[in-house]
Amino acid sequence: MFQKILIANRGEIALRIQRACRELGIPTVAVHSTADAEAMHVRLADESVCIGPPAARDSYLNVAAILSAASITGADAIHPGYGFLSENAGFAEMVEAHGVTFIGPSPAHIRMMGDKIAAKAAMASLGVPLVPGSDGAVPDVETARAVAKRIGYPVLVKASAGGGGRGMKVAGNADGLEDAFRTARAEALSAFGNDSVYIEKYLDHPRHIEMQILADSFGSVVHFGERDCSLQRRHQKLLEEAGSPAISATQREALGKTATDGLKQLGYRNVGTLEFLYQDGQFAFIEMNTRLQVEHPVTEMICGVDLVREQIRVAAGAALGYDQSEIAFSGHAIECRVTAEDPETFMPTPGRVTAFHAPGGLGVRIDSALYAGCFVPPYYDSMVAKLIVHAPNRFEAINRLRRALDEFAIVGIKTTIPLHQRIVDDPEFQAGDYTIHWLERFVAG
Ligand code: ADP
Repeated sequence: MFQKILIANRGEIALRIQRACRELGIPTVAVHSTADAEAMHVRLADESVCIGPPAARDSYLNVAAILSAASITGADAIHPGYGFLSENAGFAEMVEAHGVTFIGPSPAHIRMMGDKIAAKAAMASLGVPLVPGSDGAVPDVETARAVAKRIGYPVLVKASAGGGGRGMKVAGNADGLEDAFRTARAEALSAFGNDSVYIEKYLDHPRHIEMQILADSFGSVVHFGERDCSLQRRHQKLLEEAGSPAISATQREALGKTATDGLKQLGYRNVGTLEFLYQDGQFAFIEMNTRLQVEHPVTEMICGVDLVREQIRVAAGAALGYDQSEIAFSGHAIECRVTAEDPETFMPTPGRVTAFHAPGGLGVRIDSALYAGCFVPPYYDSMVAKLIVHAPNRFEAINRLRRALDEFAIVGIKTTIPLHQRIVDDPEFQAGDYTIHWLERFVAG
């Protein structure tokens, strides 16, 4: 097992990883920017190292500073969390070159799945169904027109290096195509330094359903079921559920088998998520995330598994020690992502939290690095807390969620708690009757 783990992240996920390490008896090293000197992930770590000024590119993305911190503190493994360097194959390679274990998949798999065109090609070769679209990159507007004509409008132009919902533009008809193509390209270049784009059929009423996978280094691959992440604003998830209100246990089993068979053939290891769009009874792969995801707790709640602990164990060379038949699903879980944003305008609301009261009680979990008196800096992602509830069924989970949201007090900054309260009270949400487009309309109305 590892002697010491450096956590190359901040906020709730840094704390989440620290908690798993502590239960495994592994000391942790926190890294932080000058803006986070007082942050909870620093306060609770065994050791901490300041790695630079506030801007992420100078601190949490500063590879040299992070590697130096690992070397100075004698850390023998690095957990990247999500975001920042978690899907940076070059970083994973450098970590390994320094004799430190990267807690995640191989750099080759990170690279393959980070290029969405390559990821789709790999999945297609494994027999996984895809959203209809271009066969690889689309180099110019003429090719884009030909593809769109073949698959039919509306179409979506997507960045091959995309993430976080950026570099994606819809064209409803031939007139809008040139504009969508050029804007997606420009956005991809400025956000990812890579202007390669591809085209997919734009689905008008899909759900976003994803499969959680875990693999060890000996060829054992299991799945922990699906998450429904259809409630999104600007292609970013806001509320997630496990399981999906829309799919049956038989469908779960079939999709899980497709995913685990595929990743077994690829020789994948550690955690990963295969994302699908589900419409009219059909699943179509869109992308794979080669890291722990923000919404992993809903899976943990229904499976009774600690996914971070599992990541650490398999990265240390342990075998899974169980197979698919031993993974059972119990009850229903829902997660709300609470952000420091105005619940109506979505303008970020950084500032001082003057009071903080977390809900509690049976089946309630809070993953947050907030505390009374802390400062939410303006430099990073605005998510400040995840509220997760677990109950025997979806109906009770919704009642528990409403109760927990009512108890939750974050004073001093505006948050999206009131938006979540409105969602929970909506009859369509309660019926589980929503697609990826539902929340945009809900927010606008
Ligand atoms: P990112 O890596 O930026 O998250 P994804 O490919 O995972 O990009 O897509 C993010 C979201 O965008 C999906 O969850 C879905 O809501 C929407 N989306 C992606 N592809 C399509 C499509 N072909 N049709 C309709 N919506 C899509």
